[in-house]
Amino acid sequence: MCMHYNVGVSHILCIWGVKVKNKIESNRAKIKSVRYIPSLKSFKKKGQKVVDNIQQAVLLSINLCNLKYFNEIYGTDEGDYLISKMIDYFIINNDNCVFGTKSYVDHLLVLCEGYNYSKEELIDYYEHFSKDFKEEINAKYPRARINLDVGMYIVQKDEDFIVAQDNARYARRSVADSYETSVAFYTEGLREKSLREASVIPNFQKAIEEHEIIVLLQPKYSVEKNKIVGAEALSRFKDPSGNIVSPALYVPILEKANIIYQLDYEVLRQVINMQKRWQDEGKELFPISVNLSRIDLLEDDIIENIDSLVEASQIPKNTIEFEFTETVLVENLSSVINKLNLLKEKGYRIAIDDFGSGYNSLYVLGQIPANVIKFDRGFVLHSLSNEIGLTIMKNLVETFKEISFEVLCEGVETKEEEANIVACGCDVIQGFLYDRPLAVPDFEAKYVAC
Ligand code: C2E
Ligand code: MG
Ligand code: MG
Repeated sequence: MCMHYNVGVSHILCIWGVKVKNKIESNRAKIKSVRYIPSLKSFKKKGQKVVDNIQQAVLLSINLCNLKYFNEIYGTDEGDYLISKMIDYFIINNDNCVFGTKSYVDHLLVLCEGYNYSKEELIDYYEHFSKDFKEEINAKYPRARINLDVGMYIVQKDEDFIVAQDNARYARRSVADSYETSVAFYTEGLREKSLREASVIPNFQKAIEEHEIIVLLQPKYSVEKNKIVGAEALSRFKDPSGNIVSPALYVPILEKANIIYQLDYEVLRQVINMQKRWQDEGKELFPISVNLSRIDLLEDDIIENIDSLVEASQIPKNTIEFEFTETVLVENLSSVINKLNLLKEKGYRIAIDDFGSGYNSLYVLGQIPANVIKFDRGFVLHSLSNEIGLTIMKNLVETFKEISFEVLCEGVETKEEEANIVACGCDVIQGFLYDRPLAVPDFEAKYVAC
């Protein structure tokens, strides 16, 4: 697909001749003449007029996701340079741009001519357009791994331009968490969803400051030993109306904002304190796992920070397990493996979480110094639903055990699922069949021996 203005011009030229060419050229000059960088205020004021003059007005809301992190690594001068490159690319040198401005430090609003292209074609075009920019920047600044979110909205001729801007912004916020450049159009309901999401960070920050992060524990149960052999720590916090916010909502948002480490350190701190208390009370300890985000591993001193917290408590290091989802293995593999090796050498346990929900090759998994592979509920359910799946599952469990991994199945809800899982050779189970994630006092009363 070519959205280049010149191609459109020459195509029309062949059909309608020079007169049309002149008209297009003069429109183009008109459009180019307004392609300066106005203030946000005048962008809002003049936006409506521009919309009336073009065929299909597509408003882009563009966010550079990791600027704060970029600045920390490369410095603010390079950060300023990055923003100016972004303005050059999306506004000054973008032939489809009619009008654009910087709406915030790392956000642009860009009004583009969409010609008569469909939404699908526009998504495809801007997906590639943004990806090219991201790749150019990441080649120059490989450690920052910048990411762009692009929201799009087609502005109607008689529509309030402020509403159009909000809708482009809601579309941008809807872009799924991904280290790919991502583009989305506004759809119904996004406004409400976006408002809910926007409250996550302030609510989380309040919960952190006021020590209101809740840690729940879900037991891991050995069928053979008929007792629990571990637990997973799962976080929660409440919104101002007292409703529990789900990690499915806040984890991706905190990851994108690069503040997930605050949550993960807090959960680790609480787990260490718990183990320490149980140790002091003479209770039998078992490993408790803490989820670490792949973003945590980008931090240079993550291992030292973790280790100094645990060392200070004097609990055995093998009572702390770290769960990483298999998505951690997608990028920077050698650096990830080095960090995991370091954790393992220091005596911590490592689990690969949600195995089977992503696309990792067994070859990569073989290089990971993990103790445990946790099969994802989706994978388990699918495997148990037919003979071929069962055979694959059985053989995978066998292979993992042969190369010294412990194997656990997550999300087990029924006795029938459990029986099939055990028949596949997997002994350890985590799921609602045994217990939901429990508040610490309830977990202690049920599972922590005197
Ligand atoms: P996960 O680490 O795979 O955790 C297991 C999830 O499966 C938990 O959801 C748990 O409540 C749910 N689950 C357990 N048994 C069953 C079952 O039998 N059936 C079904 N349908 N679900 C079951 P939860 O607590 O909502 O957490 C979702 C995900 O959020 C976690 O998946 C983890 O990736 C992430 N997460 C939770 N807390 C934290 C945290 O403190 N830090 C980080 N980085 N991620 C976290
Ligand atoms: Mg987990
Ligand atoms: Mg999991």
